[in-house]
Amino acid sequence: MNKVSLCTTSALIMLALSGCAQQKTDAQQKLNDQSVMALNWFQQSGEYQALTYQAFNTAKMAFDQAQPLAGQKKAVVVDLDETMLDNSAYSAWQVKANKPFDSKTWSEWTAARQATAIPGAVEFANYVNSHGGTMFYVSNRKTSEYAATLDNMNRLGFTGANDQTMLLSSDTSNKQVRFDSIKAAGYHIVLFVGDNLNDFGAATYHKDNAQRRAFVNQNHQQFGTQYIVLPNPLYGDWESGLAKDYNKLTPEQKLSVRDQNLKAWSGK
Ligand SMILES: [Mg+2]
Repeated sequence: MNKVSLCTTSALIMLALSGCAQQKTDAQQKLNDQSVMALNWFQQSGEYQALTYQAFNTAKMAFDQAQPLAGQKKAVVVDLDETMLDNSAYSAWQVKANKPFDSKTWSEWTAARQATAIPGAVEFANYVNSHGGTMFYVSNRKTSEYAATLDNMNRLGFTGANDQTMLLSSDTSNKQVRFDSIKAAGYHIVLFVGDNLNDFGAATYHKDNAQRRAFVNQNHQQFGTQYIVLPNPLYGDWESGLAKDYNKLTPEQKLSVRDQNLKAWSGK
């Protein structure tokens, strides 16, 4: 190959590679842009706020009515992110900066201690802790994020968070082992509060959306009494439940899966 054709070939390869990179960036931006309306709703709507108050008002009634088993202590288990803590500013940053979620930038966000409280969350937690119950904060934030998370929560006014009651993720994101450790310590968990079905136990862990909906149908009487759900349209296992190995897909493939999952009117 002469010098001119070598240069031409190299230039074409460079152009193709930059084209691929651009395509990937565009697809990631499209994925992020699909969150804009959800973020607008989450951060700005009175309806979102009303739903969180509705959830915690219901949780308070359920807590008051629940009786622990004889000889056991009364406990409530809550998730943290998008249940007690609002991290939507991190999600909005992803849109503005055109970045996917990753553990490095997430750790920087948690270290900044800028999460705010979900409306009604602080009042509910402190009500439980001052009315004969114990709050357990069971989150899949990493144990390395413990100090910053505790500081963030203390600043927001949450009571009763310490190394016995705030159980973060050291190995598995399946929370069942941590729930079992609470029960083994003599507590009866009368109520679970979360934005993800996995916050209620192992039944929906790594399951697809059909299986997750089946769990909800089979347990529909427990919602509002034993399980309290906070709305989260920003992210969750409902998204990875759209397709097998969803989290391993490229941005282009994720866009396609999202589109394929729409139930659209066929009339036009
Ligand atoms: Mg959560």
